[in-house]
Amino acid sequence: VSPSKCGDYRILLPTQQLANAKTIVVQAPDGLKHVAPCVAHLVHEHAPKARVYIHGDSSFGACDLQYPQLQATLDPDVIIHLGHTPYPKELAHPRLEPAERPRIVYARALSTRRPPRAAVARAAEMLASHGARRVVLLSTGQHTHLLPWLALALSRRGLRVRVPPPSPPYFELGQVIGCDYRLAAPADAYVIVSGGLFHALGLYLARRRPVVKIDPYRGEAIDATPEGEKTLRVRLYKVAQAMDARRWGLIVGLKTGQYRPWLVDRLARALEAAGREYRLLAYETLTVDSLRNIDSPWFEAFVVTSCPRLPIDDFAGYEKPVLTPGEAVMALRGELEPYRFPW
Ligand code: SF4
Repeated sequence: VSPSKCGDYRILLPTQQLANAKTIVVQAPDGLKHVAPCVAHLVHEHAPKARVYIHGDSSFGACDLQYPQLQATLDPDVIIHLGHTPYPKELAHPRLEPAERPRIVYARALSTRRPPRAAVARAAEMLASHGARRVVLLSTGQHTHLLPWLALALSRRGLRVRVPPPSPPYFELGQVIGCDYRLAAPADAYVIVSGGLFHALGLYLARRRPVVKIDPYRGEAIDATPEGEKTLRVRLYKVAQAMDARRWGLIVGLKTGQYRPWLVDRLARALEAAGREYRLLAYETLTVDSLRNIDSPWFEAFVVTSCPRLPIDDFAGYEKPVLTPGEAVMALRGELEPYRFPW
């Protein structure tokens, strides 16, 4: 691995994996797209004879490798997927990655931003306001290198801090992704290092305990708990709305890591057992407009098996309930407790 600086990121590029590659595609999530040209430059240095493409389309996560399309067109030897660790196979299906070509190379992008001490002090105050003593410290993939330092800084303020160990090859030290919070062991409260509210909200929904976010980009700490509580209330309302729905749309994902046959089968059986009808709807990219195109009075509710963040982040305002898998199970059982997220 050769660490190189690209803007505000340290890129860990496994250069030995590029040997003899003739065609290489550099793929990045939207938030890291601006770093991709610099990474392509690094790739040129290590594989000067290769033709290097920067993939301009959105790639939402390691669940979204898009290798079948790339295989059928550019036919690359290597896809460099920037900023994510591999998607957990047990959540998707065995063919999540190609059997042979192209080789998927995961290159980490570690942010060089460090939150100021004042943000850490503010986070400790927020945790104290929740009466928290035992906290679990987590991060998105861009900031996991900060966790040992932050754990020490928070423990000096009287907190008992635990950082979950890595779970290779899927998770680095204390790492979570938007649809997998299994590393978040039980605690009084959680601290998450991330930009935006996306991961903090998912963590709140998964654990329903106070969540404080430390944002290295903005250099501040934010108590995400009130926003988490508000989101949970909306979700429970959606579950209640769907309880009487007789006819469902069961949405199947076509992205590489969002096709979950085990989950589709489980929900199909649950719908049948509850005496509901359903239609299978297959989508690569589900948007409000693309669902509205298919929607008709026949459908009374939808459940999304592709990305469980879509119902929460994109469909909260949709006129019919659009649920995560866990929420659909709750609705079919007629239960509002315990809240299940995401599966
Ligand atoms: S939250 Fe959605 S986009 Fe992110 S890794 Fe999970 S399935 Fe993919």
